Amino acid sequence: PSRSDITYFGAGPALLPTVVLEEGAKALLNYHDTGLGIAEHSHRSQLASDIINQTKADLASCLDIPDSYEILFMQGGGTGEFAATVYNFVGTWVARKLQDIIRDNDRKTNGGKFGTIPEESTWKLSKDPALVYFCANETVDGVEFPDFPQSLQPGPDGKGPIVIADMSSNILTKKIPINNFSAIFFGAQKNLGLTGITVVVIKKSFLPPATSQPPASLMRQLGLPIPPTIFQYETIAKNNSLYNTLSIFDVYIIGQVLGKFLQTYPDKVEGQQAVSDKKAQLIYDAIEAFPEIYKIIPNKAVRSRINICFRVTKGDDIDAAERVFLEEGLAQGLIGLKGHRSLGGIRASNYNSVPLEGAEKLAKFIRAFAMS
Ligand code: PLP
Repeated sequence: PSRSDITYFGAGPALLPTVVLEEGAKALLNYHDTGLGIAEHSHRSQLASDIINQTKADLASCLDIPDSYEILFMQGGGTGEFAATVYNFVGTWVARKLQDIIRDNDRKTNGGKFGTIPEESTWKLSKDPALVYFCANETVDGVEFPDFPQSLQPGPDGKGPIVIADMSSNILTKKIPINNFSAIFFGAQKNLGLTGITVVVIKKSFLPPATSQPPASLMRQLGLPIPPTIFQYETIAKNNSLYNTLSIFDVYIIGQVLGKFLQTYPDKVEGQQAVSDKKAQLIYDAIEAFPEIYKIIPNKAVRSRINICFRVTKGDDIDAAERVFLEEGLAQGLIGLKGHRSLGGIRASNYNSVPLEGAEKLAKFIRAFAMS
């Protein structure tokens, strides 16, 4: 099949707009008539800095990120950042007295199944927690925090815990109250670009000069890890993301996606949010129209607009029914719908590059399959 024949609902990496790939292919061969491809130019060149600066400015514009935040392009994926955020905020914890890290999305709370976020009132946060970390949209199970948690709002004095969120799968799909966060991070490969770049947006007040970081000997004494240089936000910030060799091609692709985003949505992320919500609604409506045939596991209040997870319960054999669903979908060009390998089921990932028509096509297929 050709690109135009398929709609890809894979969980990541995701599709990219064809026009971005076409421009990217040209840039790989000969960037701006320099005779040299973009991936061959030095990351120390003016051209590289220009791409980085423009991309940062466009991202800030899309998401209304104020000047009090720094944008870092890093490597190591969401997985790397999960550790790096902890490494980087340790110094601040020490100052505040190290307390618990909270992990509170437990499959046990939904009868062994996935798909819930416990009521805020039941969260077991320690008193005055130093840091709270949460995953804003959980890609495997398909649950999403509908709003910023009430109990983590900064107080009237602006004080509150350090709040860090993983937004790998829902960044640029909704407006976010950026000022409530100490840091957010996301891999580029779902809504922003290619695999290989992870973006960190961090409040500048958490980027102290190196000398105010606890010295390595204190860190060792406290049994705390010393972050590898490449994961130190402060180092990356000081070098405008060019401490070591960064893939400028990957940043360029992010820039192209953001440029297109800004052209398409004059009201920026709110424009995309309306489309993301509409696509999700179309798909959920189709599933919910046939409660005998499909079952959405996540609770309605927290089900993800981005990773739509459901089971096909047509007949006695769920596995067989889902196999047929996937095969028939594939025959219609609807691909990447298989659920996460650890859970099975169906997962339709509704990233920004899935067009409205793609969601309509899937919704139509879901209805037709149920009635067949
Ligand atoms: N966090 C979330 C929410 C994700 O969806 C993923 C990947 O799918 C990750 C983290 C892991 O990211 P990476 O593969 O970039 O390490």
